[in-house]
Amino acid sequence: NLVPLVPVLERMTQKFAQVAKEKHVDLRFVSNIEEDVMVNIDEDRIEQVLTNLVDNALRHTPIEGAVTVSATYAKSYAKIEVRDTGIGIPKDDLPYVFERFYKADKARTRSKGGTGLGLAIARNIVEAHNGNIAVTSVEKEGTAFTFYLPL
Ligand code: ATP
Ligand code: MG
Repeated sequence: NLVPLVPVLERMTQKFAQVAKEKHVDLRFVSNIEEDVMVNIDEDRIEQVLTNLVDNALRHTPIEGAVTVSATYAKSYAKIEVRDTGIGIPKDDLPYVFERFYKADKARTRSKGGTGLGLAIARNIVEAHNGNIAVTSVEKEGTAFTFYLPL
């Protein structure tokens, strides 16, 4: 289905405006892709991906932090990034975050709910769109999840 990428991503991000406001987290959407650029995606599935990434970012970012969703060009792809200033993910855990049921520090995350399936599902969805997803993170500094969708 052909949909306008930027307005769709912006709407998905804005769903979290109230949650972010209550947490005093600065949630922003930025893009240098034109508003009328269309992508062939399953909008509901990509919404599931972005929703999980923003939900994760907000849950792991303390008060006064920032979560930024950005959309930029990367060759023939749209690069969509969700960056936070949160607790980060331990370096040794990074290779496993996309595996089913992975949760960093079980004792800590159990209290924050979630099943540990969101990122595994996100990777499946992005790959089904002929894209890919990756993560970089520094403990106590923050995390960035990046996924690419073909334009
Ligand atoms: P679900 O998404 O199924 O409700 P979940 O959020 O725990 O549960 P995932 O979205 O797959 O599962 O994330 C897996 C784990 O990766 C999280 O439990 C958390 O430990 C870690 N994680 C994910 N995103 C971040 C982030 N932005 N900052 C810090 N840790 C993160
Ligand atoms: Mg999640």
